[in-house]
Amino acid sequence: MSDLLKPFINNDRQRRLLEKAQKLADRFAGRTKETEQTASFSEANLSDLKKEDYVTLPLPRKFGGEELSLYEFLLLQEKLAEGDGSAALSIGWHMGIVMELSEQELWEQETFEAFAKDIGENKKVVNRAASEPATGSPTRGGIPETTAVREGNEYILNGRKTFTTMASVLDYYIVTAYVQDKDAVGSFLIDCNTPGIRVDHTWDTLGMRGTGSDDLVLENVRLSEDLLVELNKGKKSGPKGWLLHIPACYLGIASAARRDAVSFAKSYQPNSLDTPISEVPHIKQKIGDMDLKLMQAHHFLYSVASKWDEKPSSRDHLALELAAVKTAATNAANEVVDLAMRIAGGRGLSKKYRFEQYYRDVRAGLHNPPMDDMVIQMLAGRAIKEIE
Ligand SMILES: Cc1cc2nc3c(=O)[nH]c(=O)nc-3n(C[C@H](O)[C@H](O)[C@H](O)COP(=O)(O)OP(=O)(O)OC[C@H]3O[C@@H](n4cnc5c(N)ncnc54)[C@H](O)[C@@H]3O)c2cc1C
Repeated sequence: MSDLLKPFINNDRQRRLLEKAQKLADRFAGRTKETEQTASFSEANLSDLKKEDYVTLPLPRKFGGEELSLYEFLLLQEKLAEGDGSAALSIGWHMGIVMELSEQELWEQETFEAFAKDIGENKKVVNRAASEPATGSPTRGGIPETTAVREGNEYILNGRKTFTTMASVLDYYIVTAYVQDKDAVGSFLIDCNTPGIRVDHTWDTLGMRGTGSDDLVLENVRLSEDLLVELNKGKKSGPKGWLLHIPACYLGIASAARRDAVSFAKSYQPNSLDTPISEVPHIKQKIGDMDLKLMQAHHFLYSVASKWDEKPSSRDHLALELAAVKTAATNAANEVVDLAMRIAGGRGLSKKYRFEQYYRDVRAGLHNPPMDDMVIQMLAGRAIKEIE
């Protein structure tokens, strides 16, 4: 168990859940060579996640889950990311969506219960497909070019979604579209076997290759009207605590880089020195800097998560903290991996080590929501409004 997470483990349940995550992380770490090559989500990882009942953890107990708290969810996700950031981020979308739907009444009760039962009994996995080539990040408010046109009791969907993590292994997609007859953006729950659905393998990126975030193509997909599960009627949605799985993931990658860098520094002794490089002042400085950054980020992340769990009535006031912790932790993670690379020196560039993969993977965090410029604008906006 990484020493970094130990101070944040409060009870036996968390310890037990973390042991499960550690076991999965160890297996995932052994499969990264393959996913790096194929730029796809590993089916073996998915099979392990299902066998270990990981995918059902956020569900209410009556559907076979363990009603994960946000704090627990983040601990687990961070641990998974120490093994493989891609696997963690990917399953994090599923876990977070299930957590949100279980806690908030976003869907008709009957629809949610059938969906939750299916996940509980058959270990199904889901993700949202919101990004599109023309909208860029959907958090900026662009209207989807995917359309849903009504025909009798059905909707017909056409469009292309980009960045659909795990697209080729998902059982369900929650797809955003412009719903013509409502003049609003809505989300449809789509079974992966629905005719007209196709995955184009377009994912070929610098980092997070193992997320398999391919394009989802919809061509005349016919859906019954009850599959329109969410309609955005202009009301701003509340803060989303579950999105903290993003910074948790990038902190996990950074913790793995810190672990490998310290272990490298303790074992590498060039013949110009009579000690390993871990005894050299500038290396010690870098190790200390990594730990300071990680300690700050961990305390920030887990204190915001505790606030979320302990005071549900105050969640509406946590939007700024949730956004700030994403920016602070993800940037800290990038800095830690950079320091780890500097400790490893030129060997850090070699495919023999995982440093170069951490370096590429952690970079992707900057392009998951909320983006830094939006967070900084929010903080500035509050300060300017508050101070006379
Ligand atoms: C590993 C990974 C997994 C992902 N998984 C999913 C997923 O499962 N489902 C999903 O739907 N999406 C997913 N995404 C997509 C993600 O949410 C973003 O939509 C995507 O990364 C594009 O964001 P962007 O900021 O680069 O794009 P853009 O919004 O196009 O931004 C490009 C540039 O333009 C600037 N810009 C754009 N619009 C504005 C504006 N209005 N104001 C100011 N500046 C602007 C940005 O700051 C940036 O510099 C994933 C992304 C990654 C990296």
